Amino acid sequence: MCLFCKINEKEIKSYTIFENNNWHCFLDINPSSNGHLLIVSKKHLVTVDELDQELWNSLHEVIKLNKENLINKLNCDGITIVQNNGHGQDIKHFHVHLIPKYINQPDKLSLEEIYEKTRI
Ligand code: AMP
Ligand code: ZN
Repeated sequence: MCLFCKINEKEIKSYTIFENNNWHCFLDINPSSNGHLLIVSKKHLVTVDELDQELWNSLHEVIKLNKENLINKLNCDGITIVQNNGHGQDIKHFHVHLIPKYINQPDKLSLEEIYEKTRI
């Protein structure tokens, strides 16, 4: 089983912010900024090509929900969305990064602190 499948199965700990039948959203262990979130497919898919239309539509809803949540809870000024395929994709299990952007860079918070502030 791959690392993100193990996290989905709760064999490995993560800071889960939101989950539903298709998606598991947890904090990136090595965040680029406070609130860096990964939206990970429950199913073991690797690249964007493997999503069907229904999954793609549900991803859009989950992105919007979590984007609004991060903006409301962390007062960030923007959200950058990144999704790597092939070279540049370290974890070969489909995921989207939501990376909060701040005009004035705040002090770095711990994952526990971010979890308490942002979990849905
Ligand atoms: P990518 O290069 O798009 O595959 O990004 C993989 C991301 O997974 C990186 O930002 C890592 O910091 C993150 N990551 C790796 N291991 C873990 C883990 N155990 N829990 C949470 N995030 C992780
Ligand atoms: Zn997997």
